[in-house]
Order: sequence, then C-alpha cells, then structure tokens
Amino acid sequence: MYPTPKGDASPIPASKVGQVRLADREVAIADVRRHPGRYTSLFVRARSEVGHAVCLCRTDNVVRLVIRCRSGRYHLANWPLGGHGHAPDCRWYRSPSSVSGLSDYAGAFSTTDEGTSIHLSTPLTVCGASAPRGERSKHQAGTASPVTGRRSVGLLALLHFLWESARLNVWHPQDRQRTWRTCQVLLDEQVGDCWVNGMPLKDTLWIVPAFQRHHADRVSSAWQRYLAQLTGPGRARRRGLVLGEVRAVEPTEHGVRMRLAHQRARLYASTPLMHRVRRSFPSVFSELADRDGRRQVVLCLIERSRHGYAVIADLAAMLTTDSYLPADSSHEAEMATALVAAGRAFVKPLHYNGGSVFPDFVLVDSDPDTYLEVWGVRGRKRYEARKRTKQAIYRESGRTLLEWDVRDPLPGLSR
Ligand SMILES: [Zn+2]
Repeated sequence: MYPTPKGDASPIPASKVGQVRLADREVAIADVRRHPGRYTSLFVRARSEVGHAVCLCRTDNVVRLVIRCRSGRYHLANWPLGGHGHAPDCRWYRSPSSVSGLSDYAGAFSTTDEGTSIHLSTPLTVCGASAPRGERSKHQAGTASPVTGRRSVGLLALLHFLWESARLNVWHPQDRQRTWRTCQVLLDEQVGDCWVNGMPLKDTLWIVPAFQRHHADRVSSAWQRYLAQLTGPGRARRRGLVLGEVRAVEPTEHGVRMRLAHQRARLYASTPLMHRVRRSFPSVFSELADRDGRRQVVLCLIERSRHGYAVIADLAAMLTTDSYLPADSSHEAEMATALVAAGRAFVKPLHYNGGSVFPDFVLVDSDPDTYLEVWGVRGRKRYEARKRTKQAIYRESGRTLLEWDVRDPLPGLSR
C-alpha cells in the first residue's frame, strides 16, 4: 500500500518497528534523529499535507505521531494519550491509561501544540522566607497524605509522570541494559516538550548528567549557573527541581548531606525533613533497598542558601531495580528483575499518589495482557482487604492473573 524504503532490498518485517511514514515516504526514525536537517522539507510536507506522521510499528492499526517544530528543528512526539496504541517494542509505546495514575490528574496536565503543560502544586517562586510550613505540608508530594489537588501535581506525581513519559516503567526484551545515561537521554527528550507552572521544564529541572570525566568541569560550571539562577531579584526567589539517584545520605553538624550518583556537588537537608521523607517512603529508604543493586531515585525541590548551597525543601523518592524499573517494594523489585531475566515484556503501573487500584505489573506479551500481583504483607487488615478487593476486580473483569505470595518461590515466568 505504501512505498518501500528506497535502496533497501532486505525483506520487510511484518511489523516495521523503527520506521515512520512522513508524507508519502517511509523513513527510519534512527536516521531522522541522526540527521533531522535532511528531513526538514519532508516534515514540512507531512505537516501541511497530512497533519501528522504515522508510526509503522503496527500492521493492524494506524498509529499517529505529532510533528513539532522548535527553533526551526522538527521532531516527532507521542499523540496525546496515544502511547498504548504502539507495539510494546516501539520507542513510543507507553502505559495504557487504564493502568496509569495520570488519569487521576487529568486537570493538572494540559496538552498544547508545543507539548504538555504541568501544574505543580508547589510554587516554584517564593517571596521572602520559604513557603509557610502549613502551605508546604498541605501540598507535600513527599508526605503520606494520599492526594494533592487533582488539578495540580505534587513531586511524586511529577516523578512518576517523567518516568512514564520517558518509557522507563516499560521493559521489552529488546531493550538494552539501562544505565543512568540511558535514563538521562530519554528524560531529556521528554522534558523538552514540557512546561511547569508556565516555565519551560528544561530550565527548572536539573537531570543529573551521567558522569564523563572529560565533561566533568563543564558539568560543574553548568550546575553553578543553574544554582545561581535560583537567586532572584529582590525578595523573590526561584526554586529548582533536581532529579537524580541517591548514592548516600550522611549526617552533618546541621542536618544531612545527600550525595547523588554522577554528581560532585552535594545537596543538603534538615534532619526533620529527612525523617519525614523516610517515613513517607519506607520501601525506598529501607535497609533492603541497598541490596542487589536496587536504586533510589529522587526528585528534589531545592532552594539556594545564602551561602550558595543547594538545600532540599522537599523531595519525592522512588525505588527502582538495577535497570531503573520502578518498584513499590523490595519484593516487587525482585519480581521486576526476574521478569527481565525471563525475557518478558511488561509495564510497571505508576500510581502518581492518586489512590487508584492497579496491578503490580502488566505482562504485555500475552494476549490478552496478564496482570501480575506480588502479595507481600501478611496479617495487616488493610492490606488483606485491598488484596481481596483487587482479586475480586480481576475476577469480575475476566483478567488473567499471575500471583506471587512472597513466602513461596517465584512462580514460573516464561511465556
Ligand atoms: Zn510505534
């Protein structure tokens, strides 16, 4: 139906993952990304003649992509809420909305021609002293309070959104080992299309760059410039967001010092804040979290102190596996690692702190999808009730359910 790529004599795979249609031509997305300038006229034509691009990862469905232009450079982006339409091994595949906390926060995210506008509940500009304690605790993303206003997101919801947008809660056996550098690149791509409280997210959010010795001094200078911009004129001060992986939290004379992986500069926090964070994210900061290469990813709201230090005003944390797959507990991390080893394709639903009931994992390489539950806590009434509710929901909806009671050996996970 559509012309084949010119000069490519190899057989066309049933599913052309990695190929997109721009106007009347099929092109490899890797080539478009490597040489975007060569495709400018094709992008212009696709935009005026068709209005969008088409991803060819599915043979049974037309999956549209948005064409965006920033500073004269074109790029492709996911159709709003269209990520689930792609094949699970496609770079644009995203969690189905039925298993994403994003649906609880519809009012906090709006889609514009340029991308996504996010309303963060925590102000990013403060006057005089820090926001009053009462205001901060009301909007705390990091605390155990279950829900912030649905028209705005807290830090945990923003962290989940970023992870989900970058497809970091999805695993496909064709994915290569995920490093912090992989995460950084995927996150950077998404952040370029986002605004937070009216400001470009890329100007507000510092994603710790993966360490490269020959770039260390340049990164250090960039960090200093980033911190310097947090000193506003007069009494108004800007706050920043820092996304990184915790290496260590060490006591100091005045509180704690947080060392992040890949970053020389330290962040500082008060002892009461760290106590609160540990209470709010017990599975992230438990002793078990340090085992087997598990990682602690944090999104910190920071301010610059009078002496030029980066001080954490609030933070949200997320436990992940060695491959940066999120997990709500150490047992889930064990399961995610086992699923990767078993060569399964799956999604880890992220709740955004919104309170909806989702399965712990969704295996997307079976038809229909298989839900997977990890039953870890015993004897707690609330947990047992939640377990029964979930089992009833799955039974009623006719879902295939795979279960692991953590007192037993892992179930068979191969397809
Ligand atoms: Zn696709």
